[in-house]
Amino acid sequence: MAEEFPFEMSPMYEGERIRKDDLYVELAGPKSKGFELVRSADMSEVEDGKVTLIGPDLKDMEEGSTYPFAMIYRIAGEGVEPDIESIVERRNHDFQNYIQGYMHLNQRYDIWVRISKAAVEKGLESLKQIAEATMMMFKNELPFIEKIEATYITDLAEVEKELEEAKKVYEARDARTRDLHDEDVDTFYGCTLCQSFAPTNVCVVTPDRVSLCGAINWFDGRAAAKVDPEGPQFPIEKGEVIDEIGGEYSGVNEAAVRLSGGMYDRIKLHSFFEYPHTSCGCFEVVGFYMPEVDGIGWVDRDFKGTAPNGLPFSTMAGQTGGGRQVVGFLGIGINYFRSPKFLQADGGWKKVVWMPKALKDKVSDSIPESIAVATEEDATDIESLKKFLIEKKHPVVETWTAEEEEEEKKEEAAPAAAPAEGAAPPSGIPTVAPMQMPSMTVSGGSGGGLKIVLSNAKITVDKIIVKKKE
Ligand code: SF4
Repeated sequence: MAEEFPFEMSPMYEGERIRKDDLYVELAGPKSKGFELVRSADMSEVEDGKVTLIGPDLKDMEEGSTYPFAMIYRIAGEGVEPDIESIVERRNHDFQNYIQGYMHLNQRYDIWVRISKAAVEKGLESLKQIAEATMMMFKNELPFIEKIEATYITDLAEVEKELEEAKKVYEARDARTRDLHDEDVDTFYGCTLCQSFAPTNVCVVTPDRVSLCGAINWFDGRAAAKVDPEGPQFPIEKGEVIDEIGGEYSGVNEAAVRLSGGMYDRIKLHSFFEYPHTSCGCFEVVGFYMPEVDGIGWVDRDFKGTAPNGLPFSTMAGQTGGGRQVVGFLGIGINYFRSPKFLQADGGWKKVVWMPKALKDKVSDSIPESIAVATEEDATDIESLKKFLIEKKHPVVETWTAEEEEEEKKEEAAPAAAPAEGAAPPSGIPTVAPMQMPSMTVSGGSGGGLKIVLSNAKITVDKIIVKKKE
């Protein structure tokens, strides 16, 4: 059946990137609107293989342009139930990236698709071909889907209308875990979907911690593991509680060793600074520590400006992703802001100082009234952020004073003493656990006396000049 398509389909195209110069069209993404959605239905309601396209097709699109894009699939089968909609929906990313010349990023309302010029030159002329190929892969890989039909939309008004409905579905899914907590279950769920581009990523989904991509919650993990035991989602037995507040469990640590190929052996699910969860790259929001105010800021994909640390989302996402534990950065799913265990090891919301206004509005029902979180309207750099936090008596300001007093006391007691190796950092500055990062040690030669350790450093060398020693 695959021969009828003018493109190849294989996991080897998963990492394919389509750059601007190779782009035929871009669909959805940051410059437009879109979403993907899977709904379950009765067998009688689904016409197997049917594709409906609303709006211009690929051959009618202007080269180099961006169009809105929605993909709605209806699935039916004996084992199909609403519980599995999310995990089937997440596989759309997987399967579509198998298509040569087609790049799919992100999930839900954040999807971003690119189609290459080369794919069009080879004969790709209709989005219906993409829909048919995707549905074929869904049925081949997930045999519990007996019938599937697709509606693709490229008409802006229609995308906007359907997006409102889709948001209600996402919201209802997210609400399901609010009354269930980590301590109520013995099993968490893992996912390896992102290991194709983040090989050491250890994704653990618990009742109090939605996945980084935001598309899979604990119920989805459970349904996926049940319906597709050989699939990418699987159970992780919690094991012994090692740190209740930080969210460290022996079963999760064992899974971390296994899934990261030995790179990581500890994960604290509710900690930013100490053995944080790894970050793959498709997280909805990235958190960044600002030592100048001893607070954490958050920035999401939709925010186009720079955060008070001077960096945009894209730069911080590049710094954070790849399946690593990165000191000072953390990727999360938006729904984790609503968790009662949200970064509880670090003080939770008491540590949050900044986020874009649109994101703050989205999660405002979870922010305690006593915490004033700045947005781009209040602070655009560290100085204006400091001013805002002082004015609003943000809890982090108390730590500044305590920190200064502690420093003064230390200086009075031992003005010239250098900190001992392994000593705790000044109070107020969080203790950052040792991370297993690539490191390089440069010794000062046989004479000793100098040791430089470069940990997780990125070094660019423009020119090397080698001269004969005089
Ligand atoms: S972020 Fe986690 S849950 Fe989501 S697709 Fe990636 S590995 Fe799976």
